[in-house]
Amino acid sequence: MGFKTAVYPGSFDPVTMGHIDIILRGLEVFDKIIVAVANNTTKTPLFSVEERVELIKNSVKDYQGVVVTGFQGLLVDYLEKVNVQVILRGLRAISDFEYEFQIANMNARLNPDIETVFLMTSEKYFYISSSVIKEVARFGGNISELVPIPVEEALKTKFSPDLLT
Ligand code: ADP
Repeated sequence: MGFKTAVYPGSFDPVTMGHIDIILRGLEVFDKIIVAVANNTTKTPLFSVEERVELIKNSVKDYQGVVVTGFQGLLVDYLEKVNVQVILRGLRAISDFEYEFQIANMNARLNPDIETVFLMTSEKYFYISSSVIKEVARFGGNISELVPIPVEEALKTKFSPDLLT
């Protein structure tokens, strides 16, 4: 039996072309992808969950089969709530591997019915992370090819000199 729906969880603070690439390639495998924006991150986010959800929605509005939502609490509980058994994650450099392996293992332990599926990042986006994007944008560097247009605009607003005191 194939899997029809996958949940793609993450911080998405903010969504990058690397994330979009995983979503688009995920749609080749799954009929529906629920992008689930985590609320309970230990990192202090730049954008609120609502802002992050809106930015993703605006960035994927031309694609069929993508739903964007926030979630709180344990990912496995959220999956049970929406009746989905598959977690989709992207894998970048080797440095992602250990962390992703730990999380996938823990989720499988919490709920053995859950399967985590990894898609390798495209080489174009191998080195992109939300944190590097934020660093570059903060100091006015050009990130236009690395993030969707709504994110580029939102970062300009966030880091506009008038707002930085
Ligand atoms: P988290 O805080 O859960 O790691 P992120 O928003 O950083 O949230 O990442 C969400 C998922 O997207 C993770 O599986 C991560 O490996 C993947 N990802 C992040 N950046 C990229 C990228 N440039 N290419 C492919 N996958 C990526």
